Amino acid sequence: MISEIEAKKVLTYHENPFPTHWDVNPYRGCTVGCKYCFAQYAHQYLGLPDFFKDIVVKTNISEQLDKELSSKKWQKNQIKIGGTTDLYQQIEQKYELMPKIYSVIKKHKNPIFIQTKSDLILRDKAIITELSKITTVDIATSVSIFDEKNRKIFEPGATSTLSRIKMIASFNGISRNAILGFMPIIPYLSDTDENLEQIFSAAHQNGIKSVITSFLFLNGAAKSSFFKIIEKHFPQLLDKYKLLYKSQNLDPVYKSEMTAKINAIKDKYQFTNQFEPVLPQKSNQLSLFDEPN
Ligand code: SF4
Repeated sequence: MISEIEAKKVLTYHENPFPTHWDVNPYRGCTVGCKYCFAQYAHQYLGLPDFFKDIVVKTNISEQLDKELSSKKWQKNQIKIGGTTDLYQQIEQKYELMPKIYSVIKKHKNPIFIQTKSDLILRDKAIITELSKITTVDIATSVSIFDEKNRKIFEPGATSTLSRIKMIASFNGISRNAILGFMPIIPYLSDTDENLEQIFSAAHQNGIKSVITSFLFLNGAAKSSFFKIIEKHFPQLLDKYKLLYKSQNLDPVYKSEMTAKINAIKDKYQFTNQFEPVLPQKSNQLSLFDEPN
């Protein structure tokens, strides 16, 4: 179900400094539908039933963002657009909120970080290119599984892994950082020699220099939705996952072995972990922006 709202506040502060403390989310919920999505908790908090289907559209986001960025207290921190939703999920084709947001960003010359699993971002490449000439623009995508059949099980609404690699590579030299994340690393599925080779060689062939990595983290609702999918499609792996994820964090022995394996393939293709952050500021702006959006 789609519902439209007028948001009272759109800039949200959170404690996690990576990549920045400040988020703006044009939508609530996300039809990309990643079965490991950590953000599912956000809908539970709001009392909405299905994070992957019940999408809330903040129709006034650009006007409200303009107001908040115009505040004298705002200190031009870098803003991540889309912390708990994918800004280029399918519904963006209809609402076209992102070009309006970019116009506001352009007016204020405010640094931004954009992250998406959709190549719909290419629709806005001209305005992103313009923005990157006047402020800091970082763009990131993440990939996990190369094989399309398995990829669709876990990320049914995302662009294919190869298209995401090509998409992020096309921002090399335009955005300050064009970041490929190999994440989440899904045990037994994305850690195989075949999958690692397919992803890292495709990244290398497309001119990507830097890959950052992160393991699957299963908090609350993410753990149950992920385990359901494993039970349905890979029942032979379910007990192994239960052993690896006795808590929300991955078993440390597996993690250390897999880190060595991944570092070896990164060395083979000479990838770095380079990501140049804009140092986030913990500021006194919370009195203005202290409610969740
Ligand atoms: S794209 Fe991001 S926010 Fe959307 S479902 Fe996937 S992990 Fe969650």
